[in-house]
Amino acid sequence: MNPNTPALSRRDALRFLGLAGAAAFLPSLVTRAAAADAAPAAAPAPAGGPPALAGEQPGFFRFKIGAFDAVALDDGGFGGPLAQSPWPQGEPAKLAAALGAAFLPTDSFALPFNNLLVQMGAELVLIDAGCGTVFGPGNGKLVRRLAAIGVKPEQITAVFLSHAHGDHFGGLLDENKNPVFTRAQLFIHRREFEFWTGSAPDLSQTFIPADSRPGAIAGAQAYLNAFQGKWHLIAPGDKLLDGLEIIDAPGHTPGHLAFQFSSGSSQLLHFVDTAHHHAISFAHPEVPFGYDVQPAEAVATRRKLLDRAAAERTRLFGAHMPFPALGYVRRSGAAYEHVIEPWPAL
Ligand SMILES: [Zn+2]
Repeated sequence: MNPNTPALSRRDALRFLGLAGAAAFLPSLVTRAAAADAAPAAAPAPAGGPPALAGEQPGFFRFKIGAFDAVALDDGGFGGPLAQSPWPQGEPAKLAAALGAAFLPTDSFALPFNNLLVQMGAELVLIDAGCGTVFGPGNGKLVRRLAAIGVKPEQITAVFLSHAHGDHFGGLLDENKNPVFTRAQLFIHRREFEFWTGSAPDLSQTFIPADSRPGAIAGAQAYLNAFQGKWHLIAPGDKLLDGLEIIDAPGHTPGHLAFQFSSGSSQLLHFVDTAHHHAISFAHPEVPFGYDVQPAEAVATRRKLLDRAAAERTRLFGAHMPFPALGYVRRSGAAYEHVIEPWPAL
């Protein structure tokens, strides 16, 4: 750990790992979603005056993957001062330079939360459940985003949990701890489920303070055990749906999965948390993310998936990429560059 980087606070660590009830935010932390919510809804314009333009963004983006209809759904976000960076092994000056090169503030970071919904014939497939109440008020917008596109949670037929972190599983339960996606089949990598529900999940390589790790593990277990006996425990390579490849992407967590959708000649690789920031993780793929359970494996997986995507010019989606999270990757020396997909011109 970089001695210049303050350790993650207990409350923050618990929240990220999904401990229920960690509701209040550190004063120094902000969320993109909370900022958006704080903006006033479009106020009625004075008679004869110009229309008010302020208000929340729509938060969904429709696109196609061949014959599949897909929608990117904004669930909120997480951020804070770069001094509390979740890249504790990254040299602060290098992280700041990567942010600056991407025309971002150099003293803070922001990670959006994105979910992916794909209609595959009769199946309505959701990759990850959003953060629900785990990240406090102003986040957990997924159900509202679904409503905006006319989808009820009970219409989702399959939820794939990429890994058991709070920003991905929190939305499985509502504020009363009742299931949200009541008719969906739930899928998780067997290795991921067994890691978190095993006797002693090892978080010693994360930057989560040692005294916060038991609480963080309890948070993950609470959500996984809420659906005891209902999980389909799967493995990479399993053929579950035509056009969906389940890809092993270990390191961020032991059973972290990526997902490749294919229809006709169109493909989309949802790399989930293989890279966490479109500037930092691509410019410095060698720097682990502080929540990586197996940092060396996470770096190797990042390079492997990004190398393949760069060589094959694969269209990408990422859980923490800038909304609507679509883009590409190209090699840049020993590192990478994330290329944001432009708004489609029809
Ligand atoms: Zn994540």
